Amino acid sequence: MTKKQNLEELHKQIRACVKCKEAGYWIAEGAVVRGVHNAKVMTIGQAPGPTEAIVKRPFNAGSGKRLFAWLGEAGFVEETFRATQYMTSITKCYPGKGKGGGGDRVPSKEEQEFCRAWLDQEIALVNPKLIIPIGRLAISLFFDMTLPLEKIIGKQIERDGRIIIPLPHPSGASTWHQKEANRKLVKKAIRLIGKQRELLILP
Ligand code: SF4
Repeated sequence: MTKKQNLEELHKQIRACVKCKEAGYWIAEGAVVRGVHNAKVMTIGQAPGPTEAIVKRPFNAGSGKRLFAWLGEAGFVEETFRATQYMTSITKCYPGKGKGGGGDRVPSKEEQEFCRAWLDQEIALVNPKLIIPIGRLAISLFFDMTLPLEKIIGKQIERDGRIIIPLPHPSGASTWHQKEANRKLVKKAIRLIGKQRELLILP
C-alpha cells in the first residue's frame, strides 16, 4: 500500500473507533481528523468541539478563526493550510460539556491514553517536520507543564528531528492569550512558525 492509502486506512479505523464509549465515557461517535499524507505541518489540539463533531472539520468555529488569524500572520492561508497540512487532536471525538456546563469536558487521562495510540500512528505515518501543539493538553506531550505557559509559548524545541512550536488555546473563553504580555509571546511563536514555513518552502 502507498503512504496515501495507509493514511486513508488509518483514518477509517480512527473514525470507526468507539474505545472511549466502550469504557463508559460519553463521546459523540465519529472522530474528527483531517489532513494529507505528505503534510509537513501537523497541528494537535485538545479535542473537537460540538460544531467540529457535526461538520467533521477541526477548529471549525470561533477558536478556528483565531487560530487561522495567527497562522495567517505566519504566512499561511487557511484553505490552503487545511488542504495541504494535517490537523488532529489529543482525543478525536467530541467529549461533551463539562460538569459545570460551561466549557467542553476535558478528556480523562484514560481517554487520552486510548487515543494516544492513534496519534502516535498519525505522527509516524505523516512524519511532519513541524508540530504545533495547541493548548495545554497537547503542549504537555512535549513540554514540562510544571512550568507556567509564559515560559513555554514563544519557544521552539527539536524532538526526533521535528521542530515543535506551541500555541496557547485560541478559544475566546481563554483569557491567557488576551493579556498584553502574553500577546507578545504569541507573536513570538507566530514569528517562529513563519520562519519554519519559509524554511520548509510551504505555500
Ligand atoms: S476519542 Fe479517540 S480513542 Fe476515544 S473513541 Fe474517539 S477515536 Fe477512539
